[in-house]
Amino acid sequence: QYPLSKTITLPTGESYEQPTGLFINNQFVPGKQHKTFEVLNPSTEEVICQVHEARAEDVDLAVDAAEKAFEGDWSLGDPAVRGRALTNLADLMEAHKDTLIAIESLDNGKTLANATGDVALVVNYLRYCGGYADKLDGKVVNTGSDYLNIVKREPLGVCGQIIPWNFPLLMWSWKVGPALASGNTVVLKTAESTPLSALYAANLAKEAGIPAGVLNIVSGFGKITGEAISTHPRIRKVAFTGSTRTGKHIMAAAAQSNVKKVTLELGGKSANIVFNDCDVKKTVENLVTGIFYNSGEVCCAGSRIFIQDGVYNEVLAEFKAAAEAVKVGNPFDPSNYQGAQTSQQQVDKILGFVDIGKKEGATLITGGERSGDKGYFIKPTLFADVTPKMKIWTDEIFGPFGVIAKFKTVDEAIALANDSEYGLAAGIHTLNLNTAKYVADRIKAGTVWINTYNDFHNAVPFGGYKQSGIGREMGESAFDNYTQVKAIRIKI
Ligand code: NAD
Repeated sequence: QYPLSKTITLPTGESYEQPTGLFINNQFVPGKQHKTFEVLNPSTEEVICQVHEARAEDVDLAVDAAEKAFEGDWSLGDPAVRGRALTNLADLMEAHKDTLIAIESLDNGKTLANATGDVALVVNYLRYCGGYADKLDGKVVNTGSDYLNIVKREPLGVCGQIIPWNFPLLMWSWKVGPALASGNTVVLKTAESTPLSALYAANLAKEAGIPAGVLNIVSGFGKITGEAISTHPRIRKVAFTGSTRTGKHIMAAAAQSNVKKVTLELGGKSANIVFNDCDVKKTVENLVTGIFYNSGEVCCAGSRIFIQDGVYNEVLAEFKAAAEAVKVGNPFDPSNYQGAQTSQQQVDKILGFVDIGKKEGATLITGGERSGDKGYFIKPTLFADVTPKMKIWTDEIFGPFGVIAKFKTVDEAIALANDSEYGLAAGIHTLNLNTAKYVADRIKAGTVWINTYNDFHNAVPFGGYKQSGIGREMGESAFDNYTQVKAIRIKI
């Protein structure tokens, strides 16, 4: 049997114990079938370790543990206890942040700077959720003096959570934080390419006082472990972040199995709109953040860039220069802005879209090829003269790959931005408040950033219009995803 933990030496020089088992009932255990799978370092293409794989019978065991944990003090007791466990977990994650940051860079390929940003958001968000636990009040509804109507929020039960590989720990916190604060219990599946940080954090959750069975982590593949979660008859809710294709499949599976509640945070092809009266220097910085941050593996990446005719040549020239100045390479070298893509599959997908863009007649401005001869590195890539019928305009590419078009009028920019099946986010760059407000009101997207991009806060909800999803994460809205309303009507 493959061991349940392995000593790993990080590129930072630190050695640590990486758990590799399934985390069920606050213990690391092997899968019933004793299967494991390889986890690769995307920067070197070398194997980091093996991780135990959960099959349907292991998901059943995790659900048993989660159901048992739900039927007790965790869901019915003082919510302040849950809040304290979450804030303890935030403190422990902060104390172990250097290890968590390095694990995330090792496993995902993102730079240490990106991973540092992620872990800071994780710690803050867990504190935010911990603080909310005892503030999820209900109300008394007045229907006259001969009745007492109590309307209260209750947790849903066992929640299944399926997360992607682009922000492994951050997506973990967006799922686990509000679910536990609201009194649910969880069976969470990490993405098969990035399971390590969640397993490391599982030990911290136990140490923080999260009771056995409340949080269970099952590593594995979508078609096996993910399917077992989305079709499970005793899981009451499934929350998913990933591609729209898989999201549709999960929604259908959730409906057919037991009408699970569903929250989906799906793909995007977000518009980043540059007006003539923008601050060019700051705007170009935001365009770079929009499409090259986290190697472009961001669901809300500003991947369709629209520039007004008056500043088109100037912004394009500066954006090209900025893209070419982005240093790509070893994520542990702090001088690199962009690390590795997470998998060979992503590299193939991105390079496939480079060929498609050329064939479709768009103009390759820069990039379009691998960087270095080892590791999944891609040069920042920009195509101009892109039109709405092209696949590089319509499809989520999920890499450092921006497509650019020119526009004349404000209404034309709005029409171009809305010409997408997605509606996750948008950026507007103008110093004119009237233009900013006019456009923001007409863009069909869940988040509109004005003179900023990829700019998150715990208290501000995030989620998609159209095929970018259902439900909102963060902010007060996140607790709506994990509670149901009960009305108690008492005849006096
Ligand atoms: P995916 O959506 O298939 O995978 C995301 C998660 O879903 C993983 O944990 C995966 O194991 C799981 N999953 C896959 N099939 C499943 C199934 N049938 N039932 C239950 N769970 C399942 O994404 P991918 O294949 O890893 O990447 C493909 C593309 O998806 C990317 O190129 C990108 O365009 C997009 N993507 C988007 C996001 C996002 O946050 N919007 C995240 C990851 C990937």
